[in-house]
Amino acid sequence: MRIGVPRETALHERRVALVPEAVARLVRAGHAVAVQRGAGVAAGFPDAQYQAVGASILAEGAELLGGSELVLKVQRPSPEDAARLSAGAILVCFLAPASAQGVLPVLAERGVTALAMELVPRISRAQAMDALSSQANLAGYKAVIIGAEAMNRVMPMMTTAAGTLAPAKVFVVGAGVAGLQAIATARRLGAVVSAFDVRPVVREQVQSLGAAFVQAQVAAEGAGGYAKELGDEEQRRALETIAKHLVPQDLVVTTAQVPGRAAPRLITAEMVRSMKPGSVIVDLAAETGGNCELTKPGGVAEVGGVLVLGPVSLASSVPFHASQTYSRNLQALLQHLLDKEGRARIDMADEITGSMVVTHAGEVRKK
Ligand code: NAD
Repeated sequence: MRIGVPRETALHERRVALVPEAVARLVRAGHAVAVQRGAGVAAGFPDAQYQAVGASILAEGAELLGGSELVLKVQRPSPEDAARLSAGAILVCFLAPASAQGVLPVLAERGVTALAMELVPRISRAQAMDALSSQANLAGYKAVIIGAEAMNRVMPMMTTAAGTLAPAKVFVVGAGVAGLQAIATARRLGAVVSAFDVRPVVREQVQSLGAAFVQAQVAAEGAGGYAKELGDEEQRRALETIAKHLVPQDLVVTTAQVPGRAAPRLITAEMVRSMKPGSVIVDLAAETGGNCELTKPGGVAEVGGVLVLGPVSLASSVPFHASQTYSRNLQALLQHLLDKEGRARIDMADEITGSMVVTHAGEVRKK
């Protein structure tokens, strides 16, 4: 296959779809890999590293897009770039299909088979391909790091000649992939950590990381291991529990999400006002509307000395490891898609491929 890796063009995007290690494997397997000049630079992978493992470096994005049978990206292409893909090509990237209405018809018209990395099914067979998890894991880590940086105190307990400093209190709301990594990171920094989630199954995972599980008498386990939206009474109970627990916290990391919905609103402005000055909220759900009422996506709000950070695309702020893990996710997917002769098999009846295909054979299959 002729495989192309374009330079990402989205604002603040520093990741690259394939790192040199992955290119080396594909070249060894007999594929021709073209990388756009500078594609890996922001992630710490200069062109020379790609060349050294047998990739060709192309200056022009248009040439690379038009000359590849398989295009691997992080973010979806612009409609203009989508129109430059060769007819019948395969595109794999985060497509965000719900907001991709401008680009999906262009892909369909070109006869492109587009596979969305966010639609990898969450089954054990597909775990190695799960880019949502690999990127959420890094975002959970980074959320604690930026929270620690913004706090007016230190994380660990310190016993010094000038007296003992108490450890920081960290509260994690939503203990999925990002939340569990946030708990582990805050624990490593020496904080006293607690967490809340609506899926009761999470309790043991939280406790095994050395954090306390906050009980709120709610249970909202949905399909595929995800949460469902809370009913009114459960939402009231969850908010009441969070409101009480929030007051003494130094750092709150929120990661609560319900697939296909706006992020649940779990921290009101009044609850923020009840917190101590100098404490910090890092809202990882900022991109889907925020778990906190005051969150500004991509910005910072301050109320009574409490900072509310709404970082977006945090994984892209650790682009080296984010690219390395994303690249491994893609490699696992390619192992699934390519047959022994190295040709791509698009089997719509396959549980993994069928779930991920958004455009195929001239049609938009999922919106
Ligand atoms: P997510 O990003 O959709 O949600 C993050 C967390 O928010 C979840 O734990 C969810 O329960 C929680 N949440 C939702 N509403 C809430 C509310 N009102 N209050 C508090 N918390 C709330 O989920 P995710 O982190 O991507 O994954 C969730 C789970 O899916 C994982 O913990 C894991 O068990 C499972 N998973 C399985 C696989 C696999 O088998 N391949 C891969 C990844 C994840």
